[in-house]
Amino acid sequence: MITRRRFITGGLGAITALFGLSLVPEYKIIDQLVNSIPVLLYHRVGPEADDLTISTTRFEQDMASLAEEGYHTLSLAQVARRLQEQQPQLPDKPLIITFDDGYLDNYTNALPVLQKYSMKASFYIITGMMGDTDRLTGAQIREMAAAGMDFGSHTVTHRQLAELTPQEVADELHQSKFALEQTLGKPVNFIAYPCGSYRPDTIQAAGQAGYIGGFSTQCGLAMFNNHFTIKRIPVFHFDRSIAYVLLRKGLIPSMLG
Ligand SMILES: [Zn+2]
Repeated sequence: MITRRRFITGGLGAITALFGLSLVPEYKIIDQLVNSIPVLLYHRVGPEADDLTISTTRFEQDMASLAEEGYHTLSLAQVARRLQEQQPQLPDKPLIITFDDGYLDNYTNALPVLQKYSMKASFYIITGMMGDTDRLTGAQIREMAAAGMDFGSHTVTHRQLAELTPQEVADELHQSKFALEQTLGKPVNFIAYPCGSYRPDTIQAAGQAGYIGGFSTQCGLAMFNNHFTIKRIPVFHFDRSIAYVLLRKGLIPSMLG
């Protein structure tokens, strides 16, 4: 922790100079950085970039930069420890990588790059679409899990949870968890809300369904003050670089509250 604090303190001058944040008290910035972890949100990786897709070349550049900068990706078990313990043992410069929607290219294009740079990621699966055209199959999910990747629920149908009745929400939460647990043969503890849609009673229902954490699509660094509204940082093909994404979209909004 001391190492990380020193690292952060060292970088603060440049960051505050760059973004004109000299009015934000330094102790406040340091505390926010020490207690927060960036969570990247990807969807698709493929030859042609579009709204949901970044190119395989760009994804490889992202992973290479992050590895070179000394980031260490956390498993969901480590994220769970971060949620449950005050001072868990985590590596320096922790980072969480997530993928939503369970597209086939997560297996064909993203997995080989993640493995090349020894990165872990978690993949949020729409269980009602498992095995559909262009989506991951159960066998691929098991193979990725055997390679150290983690999986979470992205519900059964990808409907917006805030729009559903309590019974429909409960069904989405329970049935997707059960289907993934049957596929993987182990507990599924995390959910990513489709389209970032949730209400206070959705969070309560997620806890009752046995989840221990939920990822939103609200942009910012994950502060872990609420286990069920963990912020993420979406990565798009038009973002200048992964360093820019981490600083501009993660760090700065969070520092400004
Ligand atoms: Zn989605």
